[in-house]
Amino acid sequence: PPSRLPQLGVTVFSVMSALAQQHQAVNLGQGFPDFDGDPALLDAVDAAMRAGHNQYPPMPGVPALRQAIAAKIETLYGHAYHPDTEITVTAGATQGILTALLAVVHPGDEVIVLEPAYDSYAPNIALAGGVRVPVPLDPQTFRPDFDRLRAALTPRTRAIMINSPHNPSGAVWSADELRQLAELLDGTEVLVISDEVYEHMVYDGHTHQSVSRLPELAARSFVVSSFGKTYHVTGWKIGYVAAPAPLTAEFRKVHQYNVFSVNSAMQHGIAAYMGDPAPYLGLSDFYQRKRDRFRAGLAESGFVLRPCPGSYFQCVDYAGLRPDLAALDDMAMCQWLTREIGVAAIPLSAFYGGGSDAKLIRFCFAKKDETLDLALDRLKRI
Ligand code: PMP
Ligand code: GLN
Repeated sequence: PPSRLPQLGVTVFSVMSALAQQHQAVNLGQGFPDFDGDPALLDAVDAAMRAGHNQYPPMPGVPALRQAIAAKIETLYGHAYHPDTEITVTAGATQGILTALLAVVHPGDEVIVLEPAYDSYAPNIALAGGVRVPVPLDPQTFRPDFDRLRAALTPRTRAIMINSPHNPSGAVWSADELRQLAELLDGTEVLVISDEVYEHMVYDGHTHQSVSRLPELAARSFVVSSFGKTYHVTGWKIGYVAAPAPLTAEFRKVHQYNVFSVNSAMQHGIAAYMGDPAPYLGLSDFYQRKRDRFRAGLAESGFVLRPCPGSYFQCVDYAGLRPDLAALDDMAMCQWLTREIGVAAIPLSAFYGGGSDAKLIRFCFAKKDETLDLALDRLKRI
Protein backbone atom coordinates (compact mmCIF):
# COMPACT_ATOMS: atom_id res chain seq x y z
CA PRO A 1 0.00 0.00 0.00
CA PRO A 2 1.17 3.62 -0.49
CA SER A 3 2.96 5.13 2.51
CA ARG A 4 1.02 7.49 4.79
CA LEU A 5 4.23 9.48 5.23
CA PRO A 6 6.11 9.03 1.96
CA GLN A 7 8.68 11.80 2.51
CA LEU A 8 9.84 10.58 5.89
CA GLY A 9 12.98 8.73 6.83
CA VAL A 10 14.48 8.28 10.30
CA THR A 11 14.48 11.41 12.51
CA VAL A 12 17.62 13.52 12.53
CA PHE A 13 17.89 12.95 16.29
CA SER A 14 18.23 9.18 15.90
CA VAL A 15 20.57 9.60 12.93
CA MET A 16 22.91 11.97 14.76
CA SER A 17 22.89 10.00 18.02
CA ALA A 18 23.84 6.85 16.11
CA LEU A 19 26.64 8.70 14.30
CA ALA A 20 27.87 10.14 17.62
CA GLN A 21 28.00 6.67 19.11
CA GLN A 22 29.76 5.23 16.08
CA HIS A 23 32.52 7.86 16.32
CA GLN A 24 32.62 8.07 20.14
CA ALA A 25 31.76 11.76 19.77
CA VAL A 26 30.51 14.02 22.55
CA ASN A 27 26.79 14.03 21.79
CA LEU A 28 25.50 17.61 21.87
CA GLY A 29 22.92 16.67 19.21
CA GLN A 30 19.72 15.05 20.43
CA GLY A 31 18.32 17.05 23.35
CA PHE A 32 18.69 15.08 26.57
CA PRO A 33 20.74 15.45 29.77
CA ASP A 34 23.79 13.23 30.33
CA PHE A 35 23.08 13.32 34.08
CA ASP A 36 20.35 11.65 36.07
CA GLY A 37 17.17 12.97 37.64
CA ASP A 38 17.07 13.95 41.32
CA PRO A 39 17.52 10.85 43.56
CA ALA A 40 14.48 12.06 45.55
CA LEU A 41 12.37 11.74 42.39
CA LEU A 42 13.76 8.31 41.57
CA ASP A 43 13.04 7.24 45.18
CA ALA A 44 9.49 8.59 44.94
CA VAL A 45 8.82 6.48 41.83
CA ASP A 46 10.47 3.46 43.45
CA ALA A 47 8.29 3.92 46.54
CA ALA A 48 5.19 4.20 44.34
CA MET A 49 6.07 0.93 42.63
CA ARG A 50 6.67 -0.80 45.99
CA ALA A 51 3.36 0.58 47.23
CA GLY A 52 1.65 -1.35 44.46
CA HIS A 53 0.88 1.39 41.94
CA ASN A 54 1.47 -1.01 39.09
CA GLN A 55 -1.90 -1.40 37.40
CA TYR A 56 -3.80 0.87 35.02
CA PRO A 57 -4.23 4.34 36.50
CA PRO A 58 -7.34 6.38 35.65
CA MET A 59 -7.54 7.21 31.93
CA PRO A 60 -6.87 10.99 32.29
CA GLY A 61 -4.10 10.52 34.86
CA VAL A 62 -3.63 10.00 38.58
CA PRO A 63 -5.78 12.59 40.45
CA ALA A 64 -2.94 13.70 42.76
CA LEU A 65 -0.74 14.45 39.76
CA ARG A 66 -3.47 16.35 37.92
CA GLN A 67 -4.05 18.38 41.09
CA ALA A 68 -0.34 19.14 41.43
CA ILE A 69 -0.18 20.25 37.78
CA ALA A 70 -3.25 22.49 38.18
CA ALA A 71 -1.77 24.06 41.34
CA LYS A 72 1.53 24.75 39.59
CA ILE A 73 -0.11 26.40 36.59
CA GLU A 74 -2.37 28.52 38.77
CA THR A 75 0.53 29.69 40.95
CA LEU A 76 2.85 30.49 38.05
CA TYR A 77 0.47 31.71 35.35
CA GLY A 78 -2.74 32.60 37.18
CA HIS A 79 -5.11 30.30 35.31
CA ALA A 80 -7.15 27.72 37.24
CA TYR A 81 -7.58 24.53 35.20
CA HIS A 82 -9.94 22.01 36.76
CA PRO A 83 -7.90 18.85 37.41
CA ASP A 84 -10.85 16.54 36.66
CA THR A 85 -11.94 18.00 33.36
CA GLU A 86 -9.08 20.12 32.02
CA ILE A 87 -5.79 18.27 32.60
CA THR A 88 -4.66 15.00 31.00
CA VAL A 89 -1.40 13.19 31.68
CA THR A 90 0.26 12.05 28.46
CA ALA A 91 3.11 9.82 27.29
CA GLY A 92 5.39 12.80 26.80
CA ALA A 93 4.65 16.03 25.01
CA THR A 94 4.94 14.07 21.77
CA GLN A 95 1.76 12.11 22.42
CA GLY A 96 0.05 15.24 23.74
CA ILE A 97 0.69 17.15 20.52
CA LEU A 98 -0.35 14.31 18.21
CA THR A 99 -3.46 13.61 20.26
CA ALA A 100 -4.50 17.28 20.25
CA LEU A 101 -4.12 17.42 16.46
CA LEU A 102 -6.03 14.17 15.91
CA ALA A 103 -8.78 15.45 18.19
CA VAL A 104 -9.47 18.73 16.41
CA VAL A 105 -8.11 18.67 12.87
CA HIS A 106 -10.48 17.49 10.15
CA PRO A 107 -9.15 16.36 6.75
CA GLY A 108 -8.23 19.43 4.73
CA ASP A 109 -8.05 21.79 7.70
CA GLU A 110 -5.09 24.14 7.70
CA VAL A 111 -2.65 24.21 10.61
CA ILE A 112 -0.23 27.12 10.81
CA VAL A 113 3.28 26.23 11.92
CA LEU A 114 5.99 28.78 12.67
CA GLU A 115 9.21 27.62 11.02
CA PRO A 116 11.72 26.41 12.08
CA ALA A 117 9.56 23.97 14.02
CA TYR A 118 10.06 20.82 16.08
CA ASP A 119 10.21 17.90 13.69
CA SER A 120 7.15 15.98 14.90
CA TYR A 121 4.66 18.72 13.98
CA ALA A 122 4.61 18.20 10.21
CA PRO A 123 4.10 14.40 10.23
CA ASN A 124 1.55 14.77 13.04
CA ILE A 125 -0.48 17.25 10.98
CA ALA A 126 -0.24 14.92 7.97
CA LEU A 127 -1.50 11.96 10.01
CA ALA A 128 -4.47 14.05 11.12
CA GLY A 129 -5.24 14.80 7.46
CA GLY A 130 -4.42 18.47 7.92
CA VAL A 131 -2.59 20.83 5.61
CA ARG A 132 0.54 22.38 7.10
CA VAL A 133 0.86 26.10 6.45
CA PRO A 134 4.42 27.16 7.28
CA VAL A 135 5.01 30.77 8.31
CA PRO A 136 8.68 31.72 8.69
CA LEU A 137 10.02 33.18 11.91
CA ASP A 138 12.48 36.04 11.48
CA PRO A 139 15.71 34.31 10.33
CA GLN A 140 17.87 36.43 12.66
CA THR A 141 15.77 36.71 15.83
CA PHE A 142 13.35 33.80 15.35
CA ARG A 143 10.53 36.08 16.45
CA PRO A 144 6.99 35.78 15.05
CA ASP A 145 5.93 38.15 12.29
CA PHE A 146 2.29 39.01 12.94
CA ASP A 147 1.69 40.47 9.48
CA ARG A 148 2.74 37.17 7.92
CA LEU A 149 0.61 35.28 10.43
CA ARG A 150 -2.41 37.44 9.60
CA ALA A 151 -1.85 36.83 5.90
CA ALA A 152 -1.73 33.06 6.52
CA LEU A 153 -5.12 32.93 8.28
CA THR A 154 -7.97 31.62 6.12
CA PRO A 155 -11.48 30.33 6.83
CA ARG A 156 -9.92 26.83 6.76
CA THR A 157 -7.38 27.58 9.52
CA ARG A 158 -8.16 25.17 12.35
CA ALA A 159 -5.13 25.72 14.57
CA ILE A 160 -1.81 27.42 15.03
CA MET A 161 1.12 25.68 16.69
CA ILE A 162 3.49 27.80 18.75
CA ASN A 163 6.55 26.89 20.81
CA SER A 164 8.19 29.10 23.44
CA PRO A 165 10.93 28.71 24.61
CA HIS A 166 11.70 27.60 21.11
CA ASN A 167 13.38 24.48 19.83
CA PRO A 168 15.78 24.88 17.99
CA SER A 169 16.50 28.62 18.39
CA GLY A 170 15.94 29.20 22.11
CA ALA A 171 13.80 32.27 21.30
CA VAL A 172 11.27 33.24 23.95
CA TRP A 173 7.97 35.01 23.35
CA SER A 174 7.40 38.35 25.10
CA ALA A 175 4.21 39.32 26.92
CA ASP A 176 3.53 41.76 24.10
CA GLU A 177 3.82 39.04 21.45
CA LEU A 178 1.38 36.92 23.41
CA ARG A 179 -1.07 39.85 23.44
CA GLN A 180 -0.60 40.30 19.70
CA LEU A 181 -1.46 36.65 19.17
CA ALA A 182 -4.60 37.06 21.26
CA GLU A 183 -5.62 40.10 19.18
CA LEU A 184 -4.85 38.32 15.91
CA LEU A 185 -7.12 35.40 16.82
CA ASP A 186 -9.89 37.52 18.33
CA GLY A 187 -13.14 36.87 16.47
CA THR A 188 -11.85 33.63 14.89
CA GLU A 189 -12.35 30.01 15.94
CA VAL A 190 -8.70 29.17 15.51
CA LEU A 191 -7.27 26.91 18.22
CA VAL A 192 -3.74 27.14 19.62
CA ILE A 193 -1.45 24.22 20.36
CA SER A 194 1.18 25.74 22.61
CA ASP A 195 4.27 23.61 23.06
CA GLU A 196 5.73 24.82 26.36
CA VAL A 197 8.05 21.91 27.15
CA TYR A 198 10.93 24.31 27.98
CA GLU A 199 8.73 26.53 30.21
CA HIS A 200 11.14 26.30 33.15
CA MET A 201 14.24 27.27 31.14
CA VAL A 202 14.07 31.02 30.59
CA TYR A 203 17.15 33.15 31.27
CA ASP A 204 18.39 36.60 32.26
CA GLY A 205 15.48 37.32 34.59
CA HIS A 206 12.76 36.94 31.96
CA THR A 207 9.60 34.94 32.65
CA HIS A 208 7.87 32.30 30.61
CA GLN A 209 4.86 33.62 28.73
CA SER A 210 2.43 30.71 28.86
CA VAL A 211 -0.71 31.12 26.75
CA SER A 212 -2.55 30.25 29.97
CA ARG A 213 -1.68 33.73 31.28
CA LEU A 214 -4.24 35.35 28.95
CA PRO A 215 -7.82 34.12 29.48
CA GLU A 216 -8.77 34.78 25.86
CA LEU A 217 -5.88 32.58 24.67
CA ALA A 218 -6.32 29.93 27.37
CA ALA A 219 -9.91 29.52 26.19
CA ARG A 220 -8.72 28.32 22.75
CA SER A 221 -5.48 26.54 23.68
CA PHE A 222 -3.98 23.17 24.37
CA VAL A 223 -0.99 23.80 26.65
CA VAL A 224 1.59 21.02 26.35
CA SER A 225 4.46 20.35 28.75
CA SER A 226 6.94 17.58 29.55
CA PHE A 227 8.27 16.23 32.84
CA GLY A 228 11.08 14.68 30.82
CA LYS A 229 12.55 18.14 30.23
CA THR A 230 11.75 19.63 33.60
CA TYR A 231 13.01 16.76 35.74
CA HIS A 232 15.93 15.49 33.59
CA VAL A 233 14.15 12.22 32.76
CA THR A 234 13.48 12.37 29.02
CA GLY A 235 13.39 8.56 28.86
CA TRP A 236 10.30 8.43 31.07
CA LYS A 237 8.16 9.98 28.32
CA ILE A 238 5.62 11.65 30.56
CA GLY A 239 3.97 15.05 30.23
CA TYR A 240 0.58 16.70 30.23
CA VAL A 241 -1.93 18.72 28.25
CA ALA A 242 -4.08 21.42 29.85
CA ALA A 243 -7.10 22.72 27.92
CA PRO A 244 -10.62 24.03 28.60
CA ALA A 245 -13.15 21.31 29.39
CA PRO A 246 -14.78 21.09 25.92
CA LEU A 247 -11.37 20.76 24.24
CA THR A 248 -10.18 18.30 26.88
CA ALA A 249 -13.30 16.18 26.31
CA GLU A 250 -12.40 15.89 22.61
CA PHE A 251 -8.74 15.31 23.48
CA ARG A 252 -9.64 12.44 25.80
CA LYS A 253 -11.79 10.75 23.16
CA VAL A 254 -8.59 10.20 21.21
CA HIS A 255 -6.34 9.70 24.24
CA GLN A 256 -8.41 6.83 25.61
CA TYR A 257 -7.96 4.83 22.42
CA ASN A 258 -4.46 6.03 21.75
CA VAL A 259 -2.69 5.11 25.02
CA PHE A 260 -5.71 4.93 27.40
CA SER A 261 -3.44 5.86 30.33
CA VAL A 262 0.17 6.51 31.21
CA ASN A 263 2.75 4.82 33.48
CA SER A 264 1.20 4.59 36.94
CA ALA A 265 4.22 4.54 39.29
CA MET A 266 5.83 7.53 37.60
CA GLN A 267 2.63 9.53 37.91
CA HIS A 268 2.44 8.81 41.66
CA GLY A 269 6.14 9.49 42.12
CA ILE A 270 6.04 12.79 40.23
CA ALA A 271 2.89 13.85 42.12
CA ALA A 272 4.72 13.41 45.44
CA TYR A 273 7.88 15.11 44.17
CA MET A 274 6.01 18.10 42.71
CA GLY A 275 4.92 19.17 46.18
CA ASP A 276 8.26 20.96 46.36
CA PRO A 277 8.42 23.68 43.69
CA ALA A 278 12.17 24.28 44.21
CA PRO A 279 13.35 21.89 41.45
CA TYR A 280 11.37 23.57 38.67
CA LEU A 281 11.73 27.06 40.08
CA GLY A 282 15.51 26.58 40.19
CA LEU A 283 15.82 25.09 36.71
CA SER A 284 16.42 28.38 34.89
CA ASP A 285 19.36 29.23 37.17
CA PHE A 286 20.72 25.72 36.82
CA TYR A 287 20.70 25.86 33.03
CA GLN A 288 21.69 29.51 32.78
CA ARG A 289 25.01 28.60 34.42
CA LYS A 290 25.54 25.87 31.82
CA ARG A 291 24.53 28.21 29.02
CA ASP A 292 27.01 30.83 30.22
CA ARG A 293 29.82 28.30 30.57
CA PHE A 294 29.16 26.95 27.08
CA ARG A 295 28.83 30.37 25.48
CA ALA A 296 32.00 31.66 27.15
CA GLY A 297 33.90 28.71 25.69
CA LEU A 298 32.37 29.05 22.24
CA ALA A 299 33.22 32.75 22.19
CA GLU A 300 36.88 31.61 21.90
CA SER A 301 36.06 29.54 18.80
CA GLY A 302 35.30 30.63 15.26
CA PHE A 303 31.57 29.98 15.63
CA VAL A 304 29.26 32.98 15.81
CA LEU A 305 26.80 32.66 18.67
CA ARG A 306 23.11 33.35 18.28
CA PRO A 307 21.24 34.62 21.37
CA CYS A 308 19.95 31.97 23.76
CA PRO A 309 17.22 33.44 25.97
CA GLY A 310 15.62 30.06 26.75
CA SER A 311 15.57 26.26 26.22
CA TYR A 312 18.72 24.12 26.49
CA PHE A 313 19.83 24.71 22.92
CA GLN A 314 22.55 27.01 21.61
CA CYS A 315 22.56 27.82 17.89
CA VAL A 316 25.75 28.89 16.14
CA ASP A 317 26.63 30.12 12.66
CA TYR A 318 29.65 28.43 11.07
CA ALA A 319 29.80 30.51 7.87
CA GLY A 320 32.92 32.40 9.04
CA LEU A 321 34.75 29.41 10.48
CA ARG A 322 36.74 28.20 7.46
CA PRO A 323 36.00 28.51 3.72
CA ASP A 324 35.96 24.73 3.21
CA LEU A 325 33.49 24.30 6.06
CA ALA A 326 31.37 27.25 5.00
CA ALA A 327 30.85 25.42 1.70
CA LEU A 328 29.17 22.49 3.50
CA ASP A 329 25.43 22.37 4.02
CA ASP A 330 24.41 22.14 7.68
CA MET A 331 23.85 18.35 7.65
CA ALA A 332 27.26 17.77 6.08
CA MET A 333 28.74 20.17 8.65
CA CYS A 334 27.20 18.19 11.53
CA GLN A 335 28.50 14.93 10.07
CA TRP A 336 31.98 16.42 9.64
CA LEU A 337 31.96 17.77 13.21
CA THR A 338 30.94 14.37 14.57
CA ARG A 339 33.47 12.38 12.55
CA GLU A 340 36.47 14.70 12.53
CA ILE A 341 36.12 16.79 15.68
CA GLY A 342 34.19 14.38 17.88
CA VAL A 343 31.25 16.62 18.72
CA ALA A 344 27.74 15.91 17.44
CA ALA A 345 25.23 18.68 16.65
CA ILE A 346 21.88 19.02 14.87
CA PRO A 347 21.41 20.91 11.56
CA LEU A 348 18.70 23.57 11.62
CA SER A 349 17.49 22.55 8.16
CA ALA A 350 15.85 19.54 9.87
CA PHE A 351 13.32 21.97 11.37
CA TYR A 352 12.13 23.31 8.00
CA GLY A 353 9.66 21.52 5.74
CA GLY A 354 11.51 22.74 2.68
CA GLY A 355 15.02 22.61 4.15
CA SER A 356 17.21 25.64 4.73
CA ASP A 357 20.48 26.88 3.29
CA ALA A 358 21.48 28.81 6.43
CA LYS A 359 24.78 27.80 8.02
CA LEU A 360 23.26 27.15 11.42
CA ILE A 361 23.65 24.21 13.75
CA ARG A 362 22.27 23.48 17.23
CA PHE A 363 24.16 22.27 20.28
CA CYS A 364 22.40 20.93 23.39
CA PHE A 365 24.03 22.15 26.62
CA ALA A 366 22.02 19.94 29.03
CA LYS A 367 25.26 18.19 29.90
CA LYS A 368 27.66 17.79 32.81
CA ASP A 369 30.18 20.62 33.00
CA GLU A 370 32.98 18.21 32.15
CA THR A 371 31.10 17.08 29.04
CA LEU A 372 30.68 20.69 27.92
CA ASP A 373 34.36 21.40 28.64
CA LEU A 374 35.48 18.39 26.62
CA ALA A 375 33.30 19.46 23.69
CA LEU A 376 34.62 23.03 23.93
CA ASP A 377 38.25 21.83 23.92
CA ARG A 378 37.55 20.03 20.68
CA LEU A 379 35.51 22.82 19.08
CA LYS A 380 38.18 25.43 19.83
CA ARG A 381 40.75 23.41 17.84
CA ILE A 382 38.94 23.83 14.50
N1 PMP B 1 8.30 19.56 21.74
C1 PMP B 1 9.55 20.06 21.69
C2 PMP B 1 9.75 21.45 21.21
C3 PMP B 1 10.62 19.27 22.08
O1 PMP B 1 11.86 19.74 22.00
C4 PMP B 1 10.37 17.97 22.55
C5 PMP B 1 11.51 17.11 23.05
N2 PMP B 1 12.19 16.47 22.07
C6 PMP B 1 9.07 17.49 22.57
C7 PMP B 1 8.05 18.33 22.17
C8 PMP B 1 8.73 16.10 23.02
O2 PMP B 1 8.75 15.97 24.40
P1 PMP B 1 8.59 14.54 25.09
O3 PMP B 1 9.96 13.96 25.17
O4 PMP B 1 8.02 14.84 26.44
O5 PMP B 1 7.69 13.74 24.25
N1 GLN C 1 13.43 17.03 21.65
C1 GLN C 1 14.69 16.44 21.36
C2 GLN C 1 15.52 17.40 20.53
O1 GLN C 1 15.02 18.35 19.98
C3 GLN C 1 14.63 15.16 20.57
C4 GLN C 1 13.68 14.14 20.98
C5 GLN C 1 13.70 13.03 19.98
O2 GLN C 1 14.72 12.40 19.81
N2 GLN C 1 12.62 12.83 19.30
O3 GLN C 1 16.68 17.18 20.42
